[in-house]
Amino acid sequence: MSARPYQICTNCIMDTSDPSIVFDERGWCDYCNNFESAIQPYWHPDQKGEDALKLLADKIRQEGKGKDFDCIIGLSGGLDSSYVAYVVKEKMGLRPLLFHVDAGWNTDQAVGNIEKLVDGLGLDLYTEVINWEEMKDLQVAFLRSQIPDQDLPQDAAFFSSLYQFARKYKIKTIITGSNFSTECCREPEEWGGYLGIDKLLFKDIHSRFGKHPLETFPLVDILMSKIFYQRIIGMKVAMPLNMVPFIKKDAEDELERRFGWQGFQHKHHESRFTRFYEDYWLPRKFGFQKRRAHFSSLISTGQMSREQALERISHPEMDEHFLQQEFEYVANKLDLTVNELQEIFDGENKTYRDYRNKRWLIGLGTNVLRWLGLEKRFFR
Ligand SMILES: [Zn+2]
Repeated sequence: MSARPYQICTNCIMDTSDPSIVFDERGWCDYCNNFESAIQPYWHPDQKGEDALKLLADKIRQEGKGKDFDCIIGLSGGLDSSYVAYVVKEKMGLRPLLFHVDAGWNTDQAVGNIEKLVDGLGLDLYTEVINWEEMKDLQVAFLRSQIPDQDLPQDAAFFSSLYQFARKYKIKTIITGSNFSTECCREPEEWGGYLGIDKLLFKDIHSRFGKHPLETFPLVDILMSKIFYQRIIGMKVAMPLNMVPFIKKDAEDELERRFGWQGFQHKHHESRFTRFYEDYWLPRKFGFQKRRAHFSSLISTGQMSREQALERISHPEMDEHFLQQEFEYVANKLDLTVNELQEIFDGENKTYRDYRNKRWLIGLGTNVLRWLGLEKRFFR
């Protein structure tokens, strides 16, 4: 790779650690320009959004008639999914089923938050527990593959279980906490943000490095979820957080006041693995800071100053002693010795291109969605 001179956006804090980033003559990056031209004009967390929210609620209620639930919400215990559960119940007046996937890495705080929300909102919760032997084997296989996308096994477990469950119980609407407010700057694909669940990639990595057959692990390919689930059997994914004011700090305070819900130090910290991956593995092994994208989203949406973001990103989110403890915890939990995990950490980095994949096909599909106006966020 040719050495590119270092450059950082003059508006947010995205920089050339994203190898495909492009800057304009103002020094603004393409994420900021995309926000300005493709997100902001179409985003209405105001009266217009409230009207749209009402229409959406009526439509979902209509489809849920005669069924036990109107819709299903994947709940991690983190802010976005917790807040959307609150909006769906209290502001939309719907009857959602809360669906949680236990892939073995819940923090106590996430579990506590889920319990508090379930009690406080008076909703039903279904918890799907992933077979730990399979989960562990798949995660170790991914670590050994040396690609940056180490959260794919958890993502696959969460999304696939949700789709399979919704299909089985004929629930037509899946509600997600995806939102522009805290996620408008999408984490670049190169930073371990592979575009979706690619069965081909999973199978190849697992066949090379896995030891235990995956008999029950849920794996719904992204093309299957986009084509079969969404186009053929008509399942819909709704993102109501884009229709209401959703300011991170206010939402945290509201959940805390109403339910005793507790905020996390940072996005994605509800999973002990994700916290370790994003605060240790990815920055130290690959040089990628997902926080850079998270903070940039907050800058674009006026929730953080660029100075605050630069200060926060200048040091790890968790202290060194804590991170070393987590390294040991992760190794033990995955049945690796600390030395074995260290050896993997020290190994040569690779990318998904070193394995069989159908990235081109997923990219084509994503671009079609963009052309149709169904995806506003930025994909290169
Ligand atoms: Zn920018």
